[in-house]
Amino acid sequence: MKNRVYINQLREHIGNTVIIAGWVSVRRDQGKMVFFDIRDMTGTVQTVVLTKSPALESAKQTSRESAVAITGIVNKRPEKNVMAGVQNGDIEVSVEKIEILGASDAPPFEIIEDTSMISEEVRLTYRYLDLRSERMQRNIRSRSEFVRLCREYLFNAMFTEIETPLLTESTPEGSRDFVVPSRLHPGSFYALPQSPQQYKQLLMVAGMERYFQIARAVRDEDLRADRGFEHSQIDIEMSFVEQEDVMALVETMIIEVAEKMGKVLKQKPFPRFTYAEAMEKFGADKFDLRDDEEKSKGILAFAWVHRFPFFEKTDGGDWTFTHNPFSMPLSEHIDDVLAGKNTENILTAQYDLVCNGHETGGGSIRSHRPDILRAVYKTMGYDDARIEQSVGHMLEAFRYGAPPHGGIAIGIERMLMTVMGENYLREVQAFPMTRGGQTAVMKAPKPLSDKQLSELGLEIKKKTK
Ligand code: ASP
Repeated sequence: MKNRVYINQLREHIGNTVIIAGWVSVRRDQGKMVFFDIRDMTGTVQTVVLTKSPALESAKQTSRESAVAITGIVNKRPEKNVMAGVQNGDIEVSVEKIEILGASDAPPFEIIEDTSMISEEVRLTYRYLDLRSERMQRNIRSRSEFVRLCREYLFNAMFTEIETPLLTESTPEGSRDFVVPSRLHPGSFYALPQSPQQYKQLLMVAGMERYFQIARAVRDEDLRADRGFEHSQIDIEMSFVEQEDVMALVETMIIEVAEKMGKVLKQKPFPRFTYAEAMEKFGADKFDLRDDEEKSKGILAFAWVHRFPFFEKTDGGDWTFTHNPFSMPLSEHIDDVLAGKNTENILTAQYDLVCNGHETGGGSIRSHRPDILRAVYKTMGYDDARIEQSVGHMLEAFRYGAPPHGGIAIGIERMLMTVMGENYLREVQAFPMTRGGQTAVMKAPKPLSDKQLSELGLEIKKKTK
């Protein structure tokens, strides 16, 4: 729109005629005059349509939440009408022309109020309206800011941003895959990535050295307040590093980014707890170090947890990994892993980043030696054929000069939820799913047509009642 002025710039135009564009937040019709609060992405301003204004007629027809363009004069308000502490509380726009660009029906809920008390179903059906609310605008924009600052930090630290495939192979990351049927190979399936774990390690073998990606990860797990099907992570991998190097890089990044976002950190450097210490002290490997006052002030209390047990027993009595099968055992435990003994005491070079009671990140130094990775799978009861089938390609890649490497993934929603003081992941996602796993606004999952099914070579078993 030509000559449009953003609402937060209006004070530079006092006395001038301007064009603003946005939505009608509030409408007060006083008969002879109509007041509108107009909102754009930069803020809100009061506008007034005076009795003598040629716009009075159209003002009468302008409903709340309509998208409008307004031409008017920016005036200083009389001293007695100045609203202290309110954005643009000392100015108003005297309206000369209103153009209704998109008329609005009465909205199904109040957008200018906090929408967190509105039912989830209604909020998600009309997510595009929910997102207009001040809190959601702030959350989504802060998320973008967080990602931007992390990206900038990583680019400055010589990282390369690389995308990895969305259609991939089922990986042993510990939870259920979402699968995608293949049309070209009927009866075969891709899996959506639970994490770019293997690709990022392959990128280290490929000599990229410092990789990051704002990666989507998808897991078919039961939904909770702090866990959804899809999440995004700042996924990082580095070559020729030890645990300390990765932790130092991430810690510096998080401190810099959080402080640039105006957040106060309880403690720097971040305190560290071994898994054993955390369990003894807090009874869990994620914990909240803040007192009540710090909680009320929104202070962020980061901490690291490290020296995790590598393996745990499954219900069936077999050994499985606690975090990540590609992790390296701590150096003092490598011989035991290779010998397949002392499994219950083996610790791994895994580190988790905890904040205000949430696990906001986790990573590890990896087994870049094929013999160690093989031994880990042996410990988990895999025979040679099954090892070959699961991670044969990784063992093969590691035979060609694999550098020592390690990385981490920072969960973007968990981090933002914590930083913004929200209790649910969906408050920092533009289009989250319902608790029942239904998409916002649109209607997935839904059945495929017979044509689609036949193209994919699929047949759906009829539910027997
Ligand atoms: N693959 C891990 C995850 O997605 C992160 C990592 O170890 O780098 O949680």
